[in-house]
Amino acid sequence: MRFLFLLLLALWPMAQANPRVGVHEGFTRVVVELPDPGVGYALEGEGALLVVRLTGLSLPPSEGVVNSKELASYQVVPEGKGTRILLRTKGQVEAKVARYPDPDRLVVDLYLAKGAPPPTKPQPTAKAPKPPKPMVLLDPGHGGIDPGMVGYVVEKELVLDIALRLRRLLVGEGIEVLLTRNSDTHLSPDKREDLSRRAGLADSSRVNLFISIHANATPTRTAQGVEVYYFGRAQSQAVLSQVIRENGGGDLGRRLTQEARTVAERILQDIVAQANQRYSERLAETLGRKLSEATGSPYRGSFPGDFFVLRYAKVPAVLVEVGFGDHPVEGRRLQGPAYREKVARGLFAGILTFLAQGAYR
Ligand SMILES: [Zn+2]
Repeated sequence: MRFLFLLLLALWPMAQANPRVGVHEGFTRVVVELPDPGVGYALEGEGALLVVRLTGLSLPPSEGVVNSKELASYQVVPEGKGTRILLRTKGQVEAKVARYPDPDRLVVDLYLAKGAPPPTKPQPTAKAPKPPKPMVLLDPGHGGIDPGMVGYVVEKELVLDIALRLRRLLVGEGIEVLLTRNSDTHLSPDKREDLSRRAGLADSSRVNLFISIHANATPTRTAQGVEVYYFGRAQSQAVLSQVIRENGGGDLGRRLTQEARTVAERILQDIVAQANQRYSERLAETLGRKLSEATGSPYRGSFPGDFFVLRYAKVPAVLVEVGFGDHPVEGRRLQGPAYREKVARGLFAGILTFLAQGAYR
């Protein structure tokens, strides 16, 4: 009951919005008011993303988390004289579209596909299959021949320990976890290949979130705090230096950064990739705040960066810098198991918060 109340509260602002979203028994309804009979529409499916394309009607940009059985969230993207409405659906969903007059409106009803168990009234005799568990891909950065940053801690060792602690917490909560590595090893001696294989694991499985875990360093050894990155063009020299370091450093790091940058530029034209980028940004912000809360380490913010390992992510994907391993205070803290457990718990809280918003594939 309390959940229903919260849901209604969350949906309340949508009552005045265009589109309006209504959650009903057995379906979710999206209604778009059409002020002009000349407006055309088309519905396109792209996996877990349905796109309603309107021509001749430009709606202001908006978005919302719905989290019904059928619909995770929606996003309105104006596009010249038209609009695209992105509907991020959950699982196997069928859509019925119809246009009605007085007032002129487009109605999109989303149902769970036939064959799927009825969501609210399971047959008492038949065992309804459990919904698939969310799956998180954890990527402890570096490993094997590549130690990452070396200060009061060695990055490859620190981030593996944190990833293993985080895995225990997530599995305890019924969330499936995949690791890019579970020992001190590289995936390839070639950095480009190594990063590509890590990213490839997110693509080749039914992963919902991709989290690459790293530790930070600065030439001055005076910085401390938490930073989280999502894929996009780096907006400052400080971020760019950081990106180059994590992309392998030196000439290699610059080359891979340039390669990732061309992907980042292409994404500016790709509405679907952009929608995913917004989820990644939200995931970055959620993780950063929860990590800072759990550890007391200052939150330095979330930023876009041309990280090679994130460049083709089709699910929300971030790179977390859990702290500065070369800072005399924070670096020493990161040595201790109790503090590492706090880091894992902060990331755990962030992941649970993000998943609870239903904003994932
Ligand atoms: Zn790193």
